Amino acid sequence: GAGKTNAKTPRVFAIVNQKGGVGKTTTAINLATALAAAEKRVLLIDLDPQGNASTGLGISQKQRVITTYEVLMGMDEIGGALVSTSVPGLQLVPASVELAGAEVELVETARREYRLKDAIERLKVVYDYVLVDCPPSLGLLTLNGMVAANAVLVPLQCEFYALEGLSHLVRTIDRVKKSLNPSLDLQGVVLTMFDKRNNLCDLVASDVRGYFGEKVYNTTIPRNVRISEAPSHGKPVLLYDWRCAGSQAYIHLASEVLYREQDYAH
Ligand code: ADP
Ligand code: MG
Repeated sequence: GAGKTNAKTPRVFAIVNQKGGVGKTTTAINLATALAAAEKRVLLIDLDPQGNASTGLGISQKQRVITTYEVLMGMDEIGGALVSTSVPGLQLVPASVELAGAEVELVETARREYRLKDAIERLKVVYDYVLVDCPPSLGLLTLNGMVAANAVLVPLQCEFYALEGLSHLVRTIDRVKKSLNPSLDLQGVVLTMFDKRNNLCDLVASDVRGYFGEKVYNTTIPRNVRISEAPSHGKPVLLYDWRCAGSQAYIHLASEVLYREQDYAH
């Protein structure tokens, strides 16, 4: 690798799309799990007030003592918020509903766009990868995710409206790059809920590839019932049913992500 990063600095990916229900949280949980299965030390930060990543990893409300909210507001250190999950090598900073207030409360704070970045820099535990599961908006929380990140990973649902709103997302990434985080990259775009029997899916996929070119991962995530069942068991699909098509797809995605990361090898 090019050795661009210090061995102790994690690579940070923000999982971003201002649309809800496109597979951000599913990708965050399962990519994190697949990276941990590849023996990477991984931290998932739940930056969505809905807390779906926390619930999907089986972290109860009772276990969410110190959350992303307290960390962003400077009330607690990130080190106190780390929770272990059922996945070896994967830890979580959980979210609670209070986080919804942070979108407004942060406006009045110093370095409001850098709160997450500053917190990650204070981490004493060593991670190879930090994944940030962003909420479905391009507000101050997502901005914190993109400012803290080395790269953005965009899940896109294969549907008629997939490309709608994308220019807004791309412009936002460009604006962050120009002002707050000049080294921000696009790690890639992953097509989710892909249904190969549906012709529309192929059309959308070729449109997206026309727009993003090589940035679109070869791996597509199939629409898979095991993926949708797993969160209600508080497990990543890889622990729920590692053989299913959904699990295999996330393993492939992780290897593509790692391949793209070779220049930054630890
Ligand atoms: P977001 O975080 O973007 O709002 P989620 O990851 O929560 O989206 O996904 C929205 C819903 O779709 C969830 O109920 C999830 O279980 C389901 N889902 C996500 N990806 C898949 C998939 N590949 N196959 C089937 N269901 C999926
Ligand atoms: Mg989500």
